[in-house]
Amino acid sequence: MIVTFLGTGASHGVPVVGCDCDICRSTNPKNNRTRSAVYVETRGVKILIDTPPELRIQLLRERITGADALCYTHAHADHLFGLDDIRRFSEKSKHDLDVYAKADVVMNIRTAYEYAFRPAPAQCTKPGLLLHEIRGPFEVKGVKVVPVPVMHGKLPILGYRIGNFAYVTDCSYAPPESIELIKGVDTLVFGTIRYDEHPTHMNVDQACAFVKEIGAGRAYFTHMSHKLDYDVLTETLPENIRPAYDGLKIEIDETSD
Ligand SMILES: [Zn+2]
Ligand SMILES: [Zn+2]
Ligand SMILES: [Zn+2]
Repeated sequence: MIVTFLGTGASHGVPVVGCDCDICRSTNPKNNRTRSAVYVETRGVKILIDTPPELRIQLLRERITGADALCYTHAHADHLFGLDDIRRFSEKSKHDLDVYAKADVVMNIRTAYEYAFRPAPAQCTKPGLLLHEIRGPFEVKGVKVVPVPVMHGKLPILGYRIGNFAYVTDCSYAPPESIELIKGVDTLVFGTIRYDEHPTHMNVDQACAFVKEIGAGRAYFTHMSHKLDYDVLTETLPENIRPAYDGLKIEIDETSD
């Protein structure tokens, strides 16, 4: 399995518009973060998780031209508002893209992208979407995807487990049943935002404790704000936790699943 980090930034991205802090002015490309998403390839099946506003730039950078499914964590703007860019997926494949999301996210997509659900005017294109409301684990071309319910402040959202890989971002609390779903996973990608506490995200200390509780073999942090410097994180995090960066690709052994 190969997981590509399309983006690793918090909702503002890094640099932040109008900010001239050290990290926003950093010359280290690993401190340059577009909004968060990952692209998972396993046994020939391709799954995109979230469609951030920079999706087009991310797809071009990684030369991604399609997916077998799109799964949403939640409908916040930084995770949803690049959805129109998957128009090229449905144009090229000539069929609608299977989209999996919680009921509230399905409703948000229908509202924000209502033009995608009525016939396009002549000569115009629209994203072809086949919406599926998530009610439990599901399969994408034989690959099992397990939704992992977590809390994002007061908002219930989803992380996902695919084989020996789990992706959980924008999480401030995970109930014991969800911890069970990802316990002992080989590779955990987890969202953390800054060192100070935050009402809807875990800070770095909380995220480190979470990785330990899960007993993940290794973890990568994503959804990082301009308060987190790549080099400082690399030096200070436990050895099995690394900060991710845009364009990072990781390999996950599927045989141990
Ligand atoms: Zn977010
Ligand atoms: Zn800044
Ligand atoms: Zn969010």
